[in-house]
Amino acid sequence: MEQLKRPNGTADLLPSDTGRWQKLEGFLRETAGRFGFQEIRIPTFEQTELFSRGVGETTDVVQKEMYTVSAGNSSYTLRPEGTAGTIRAILQNGLLNEALPLRVYYILSCFRHERVQKGRLREFHQFGVEMAGSSSAAADAEVISLAGQILGQLGVRNTELHINSIGCPVCRKHYQQVLRDFFLPHREQLCETCQERLEKNPLRLLDCKVEGCKEIGKDAPLIIDYLCEDCGSHFEKLKSTLDRLGIAFTVDPRIVRGLDYYTKTVFEFVTTDIGAQGTVCGGGRYDGLIEQLGGNPTPALGFGMGLERLLMTLETQGITLDEPRRCDLYFAPMGEAAGELAMELTAALRKEGIAAQTDVMGRSLRAQMKYADKIGARFTLVIGDNELEQKCADLKNMLSGEKITIQLDDSFAERFSAIEIADRLAKE
Ligand code: ATP
Ligand code: MG
Repeated sequence: MEQLKRPNGTADLLPSDTGRWQKLEGFLRETAGRFGFQEIRIPTFEQTELFSRGVGETTDVVQKEMYTVSAGNSSYTLRPEGTAGTIRAILQNGLLNEALPLRVYYILSCFRHERVQKGRLREFHQFGVEMAGSSSAAADAEVISLAGQILGQLGVRNTELHINSIGCPVCRKHYQQVLRDFFLPHREQLCETCQERLEKNPLRLLDCKVEGCKEIGKDAPLIIDYLCEDCGSHFEKLKSTLDRLGIAFTVDPRIVRGLDYYTKTVFEFVTTDIGAQGTVCGGGRYDGLIEQLGGNPTPALGFGMGLERLLMTLETQGITLDEPRRCDLYFAPMGEAAGELAMELTAALRKEGIAAQTDVMGRSLRAQMKYADKIGARFTLVIGDNELEQKCADLKNMLSGEKITIQLDDSFAERFSAIEIADRLAKE
């Protein structure tokens, strides 16, 4: 029968891949925890309206990229990003009544029906954080420094932090009019979606990926020149705080970010090492979102980091996260009685936190040793008739070839632990 293939734009993470994913996720959790962020887990799908309200009707994500299914009278959408669902959960569970600022992080998959290419998948993963309750530029700097620290500690090079301010509804209103006036003479040359955006939300024109629209937009007026006093001073404060924290940045007045809910600060960490889709992390402030989703007006901000793009960057730069398959001791028994003893000792070792394995394939001694070699066992121990009779056996260090005789009694696990620790210390 014909074998079926996975959908375009999805990936299988094989045992040879999952080690580095686990390591990366562990590192992200640990780092987020140090900054006071706690994990939140949300549903994979939500009511479609959550995203049209929370992400924005005029965004690429909502207009072109959502996976939506209807069931009964309801319409549901696979989450294209993590923020809308997280804010929904925060509101539904009253988390804003607790100590503010609220700091949560998530690691989740997102679904977008995009044109698949390098760094652009249809199911991808994000590490993201959201911080709610503070309107100060210090909060912006803290969230940015978390993303910066993650990249820095992983040893990622050639990454730049780009920041911009896209103002608030007050100053943006005026700017949108200025933009509309700028694009109007070129209306006929714009893509269909942008012609619509021209009426509804001209800011979105600057985020269009169509070459013709990008070309026209090159000389468009910049929002940074139209900020109101409040937004202007917020941006100045952010820049001076980043300076004080020693975080290098460049102001890129062309970043508008893909999602509608942003206000004031927007930022991206961009690398030149993985081709055209080089934005590893994108985020910003979204002071209007919580109210937009039915909560009391509450300032908030966050970022989303694309884990596939991050891992691609690490790989290109030769930074490894691989955790080799661990086997501390492999027992090679010969015969039934030896097999039973090996099973018991394996179980005892595992209780002590040691990675032990023994034969479950009925293999010959030769084949077992070959297997032990393949899985990289650090020690091996053969149990034959002699060993059974004398209740002791040779423990072989596979790296040095050294052999130690060890008793196969009740204190075996304890004694092996001591040898194993000594061996590990000697290597460090
Ligand atoms: P882009 O401009 O690349 O389309 P975006 O503005 O749509 O990005 P966000 O919605 O801000 O991206 O998502 C945050 C991060 O998630 C991005 O910076 C990127 O690292 C990652 N990301 C977004 N879309 C994809 C995708 N289709 N495949 C892989 N990673 C993605
Ligand atoms: Mg996108």
